[in-house]
Amino acid sequence: MNQNIFPVFDKILTRKDKEKLLNQHAVVIWMTGLSGAGKTTLATYIAVELNNRGYLTQILDGDNIRAGINNNLGFTEDDRYENIRRISEVSKLFLDCGIVCINSFISPTNEIRQMAMDIIGKENYFEVFVNAPIEVCESRDVKGLYQKARKGEIKNFTGIDSPFDIPDHSFIEINTDQLTIDESVSKLLEKILPVIEYKG
Ligand code: ADP
Repeated sequence: MNQNIFPVFDKILTRKDKEKLLNQHAVVIWMTGLSGAGKTTLATYIAVELNNRGYLTQILDGDNIRAGINNNLGFTEDDRYENIRRISEVSKLFLDCGIVCINSFISPTNEIRQMAMDIIGKENYFEVFVNAPIEVCESRDVKGLYQKARKGEIKNFTGIDSPFDIPDHSFIEINTDQLTIDESVSKLLEKILPVIEYKG
């Protein structure tokens, strides 16, 4: 191998080349919403549906991010920003690889979502507002977190003693208290498929 060309390999293969190889247009699908709204559920189902149609995806969520690359971060204001900043940078790497990245994070404020969009790039960022009233999320209490927050065992819990700003520029809103999981997935797919279709 010619050692001289080694350093430029990175630049020879572009995101476009990889998108062509994968026959897809890479974007970040960013799920925002309260705990228990249905982000993880929808991310999982959408990933399977896309996989079945031949699209390569990667889910980023609390499980694979907070347990790994961000395992030194807590829930202070600064750490929440750093958490989202790193997630956004990691998402960019997946974009560069031509992969559809499906992110599932509460990302509670307009400011924090704006930061994610600025890092990822407006043209790559597709925000999904996974919406259900707090009472519904609390009654689901998938991980028992609301009960703990109500007892004061968890501080600064979004929707209880920490704010959630209603997103006003989302690509799509899914009301999971009004739709079944299947209906939610179909609605989302209908909007996402034309976006990730490879257009050359
Ligand atoms: P989050 O990731 O937002 O914290 P989860 O996906 O873990 O939320 O939990 C959402 C819960 O709501 C699950 O138990 C899921 O089965 C239920 N659910 C009911 N309807 C829907 C829907 N339309 N979309 C997604 N989840 C739903």
